[in-house]
Amino acid sequence: MAKQTDISTLGEFGLIDHLTKEFVVRRPSTIKGIGDDAAVLNYPKQQIVLTTDMMVEHIHFDLSYTPLKHLGYKAVISNLSDICAMNAIPKQITVSLAISNRFSIEALEELYSGIQLACTNYKVDLVGGDTTSSDKGLIISITAIGSAQKDMLVYRSGAQVGDIICVTGDLGSAYLGLQLLEREKQVFLSDPNMRPQLSQHDFVLMRQLKPEARLDVIDIFRESKLLPSSMIDISDGLASELFHICTRSGTGAYIEEDKLPIVQQAELLAFEFGLDPTVCALNGGEDYELLFTIAPTEIDKIKLIPTISILGAITEASQGINLHSKSGRIHPLKAQGWQHFSPAQ
Ligand code: ADP
Ligand code: MG
Repeated sequence: MAKQTDISTLGEFGLIDHLTKEFVVRRPSTIKGIGDDAAVLNYPKQQIVLTTDMMVEHIHFDLSYTPLKHLGYKAVISNLSDICAMNAIPKQITVSLAISNRFSIEALEELYSGIQLACTNYKVDLVGGDTTSSDKGLIISITAIGSAQKDMLVYRSGAQVGDIICVTGDLGSAYLGLQLLEREKQVFLSDPNMRPQLSQHDFVLMRQLKPEARLDVIDIFRESKLLPSSMIDISDGLASELFHICTRSGTGAYIEEDKLPIVQQAELLAFEFGLDPTVCALNGGEDYELLFTIAPTEIDKIKLIPTISILGAITEASQGINLHSKSGRIHPLKAQGWQHFSPAQ
């Protein structure tokens, strides 16, 4: 096993210095990053977009199959995805940690190498955070700050009747990646000599362990002068997020089952687990893709962008929110996004 050094050898300030010394500042809007009582940012004439997410060990992640580097990367991505969902550009993050003495300096270096990789890939500056101890698990809270011109911001509430519903990327893979990791964990727990059967499932595993935020699509929107009428990130599952758009916009919607972008590897795995691939795509979650609506006049621009699927259209609220099945039936959709709090037993 690699060398494990107790956190106490560095002390709190030494630890922060050690973990953040390799981070470089890239954004002109970062006037002061780490090292003072507060960061200073400069955003003349822009609107600031701010979001925060907390991830708690055993609730949101399981370190028995999540490498710390991936966890750091994903924790940043989940925040950047929310900034992108406003059609804004992410610029800075802060990272706050509660850590038990179970974690060594080497373990935290791994976590920060993932955070740093995300900062590099998305040109985001780490400008601060907080560090405290916890009695057992690991808690990571990340705040992301982004910006956009006022007239570029896209809200959940802007969908209009007749607008076209689109989604980026593919759906359901991250959920199936998680099912696979959970299955192999149970196999391992019942017989530690069993080797995990993961090799042919790289795609779904990467979708679960190393998701990306769709900043590439936000950039294409700008290049092609396309402004969605509404947008949301679908980390909690397509169905529940479509409900959010419809509720906020005061509309209904329909989507067509045969338009759901499900890759073959995910579909085969769903069958192996006895799951319906459509249900995985609608309710799976953690896909970090963008669900958005556009005016029908913009459809030609959308067709030029790869990795975007047209799913359906926005309707009057009185029509409800429906799935048109492959067999031609109309099913009312249910918002079964992933719920963090289940009702008391
Ligand atoms: P304060 O006493 O004002 O809370 P700290 O000593 O906690 O300040 O932090 C010193 C500097 O290090 C600040 O710029 C703070 O934002 C930054 N910082 C603290 N913890 C972290 C962390 N886990 N990751 C990145 N930066 C951090
Ligand atoms: Mg502090």
